[in-house]
Amino acid sequence: MLIIKNTLICLSLLFSSVVHAAFEGQSSTSVDIAIIGSGPAGLGCGIVAVKKGLRPLIFTGGAPGGTIIYKSAEVKNWPGVKNKTGKEITDELQEHARHVGVGFSSDYITDISSHDGVFILKSASGTSFVAKTVVVATGSSAQRLGVPGESTFWGKGVAFRLGREERYKRVVVIGSGDDAVEKALRAASQAEEVILLARGNSLKAHPESIVELSNTPHINVHYGTSVTEFQGTTSLEALKVRDSAGLSFKIDASMCLVAIGSKPQSDLVAHLVMCAADGSIIMPDRSQATTYKGIFAAGDVCEGSYGQSFTAAADGMRAAYDAAHYIQALHAT
Ligand SMILES: Cc1cc2nc3c(=O)[nH]c(=O)nc-3n(C[C@H](O)[C@H](O)[C@H](O)COP(=O)(O)OP(=O)(O)OC[C@H]3O[C@@H](n4cnc5c(N)ncnc54)[C@H](O)[C@@H]3O)c2cc1C
Repeated sequence: MLIIKNTLICLSLLFSSVVHAAFEGQSSTSVDIAIIGSGPAGLGCGIVAVKKGLRPLIFTGGAPGGTIIYKSAEVKNWPGVKNKTGKEITDELQEHARHVGVGFSSDYITDISSHDGVFILKSASGTSFVAKTVVVATGSSAQRLGVPGESTFWGKGVAFRLGREERYKRVVVIGSGDDAVEKALRAASQAEEVILLARGNSLKAHPESIVELSNTPHINVHYGTSVTEFQGTTSLEALKVRDSAGLSFKIDASMCLVAIGSKPQSDLVAHLVMCAADGSIIMPDRSQATTYKGIFAAGDVCEGSYGQSFTAAADGMRAAYDAAHYIQALHAT
């Protein structure tokens, strides 16, 4: 084990010459693993990468800590941890990563290309980075409905989440998954009434959350409904809704949260790796390797993701092992 670790450290030092060749004298940061994303997948990857004797750099992008940070209630299914919020778990993961020596950059990566066996990453701030391997841990982004009025009233009554302090007479939440149920539960503490509009005839959330929802008297679920229009003058005043029988009706509300699922954020590498129709990254074998040599994927961006923070962290850890094997093999040839 020690021999492998030392070999990898020596290879890391040799790598600096490759960097100069790639950039013809320009200076740039060079790392073993460029980890794009700082959610549970990226942080899990960084921690294991250091343990494998590699130099990882995590790019945090616009959402340091990732999506789980928005979970203000207890995070479910995180092994060994009870009664902790998303922020608390994220703080611990970040502290662990910093403690073992993971590097962090707040840059948002805008481009990745491959040259002579290394990857060149460009960031929104104009900085370039060179990496032997890339782990894509960019998660997924919330989707919008795309119906009339949504863009007009976005931020004026239509949103992904509520402000922390505001109080409301009625909040409408659209969706039927974990995100929608969580949002409805949270909105219940800030509103006199919460209406959850679910397209199908059941909810696809954690059973515990569904029980909590049904025990909250001022949350009403309307199944088989879809919103067809957001209406108002300067801000949201009402939603036009159609039921499964095709009948339209109006709900007066000044606040509506859209929670209809998310799209994997794979655009950055879509020109290099194979993606499924929904945009998720395909991993053809039982590892985190994508179809492009040297690029690995982890977490919610992956095809077949369980959409959970603990599976994302585990994916990231697996990606670190896979990347370490890849680097070893690279220099053994
Ligand atoms: C309301 C809610 C409640 C949830 N509750 C639970 C729960 O109780 N238990 C549970 O296990 N899971 C829960 N989840 C799911 C969990 O949050 C996700 O599965 C998990 O965060 C996915 O981790 P990830 O690392 O793959 O992606 P994310 O956490 O989404 O992180 C993506 C990261 O990528 C970065 N990024 C993206 N593009 C770029 C770029 N181009 N350059 C640099 N950085 C970039 C972002 O800034 C971010 O840091 C919940 C989710 C929501 C929304």
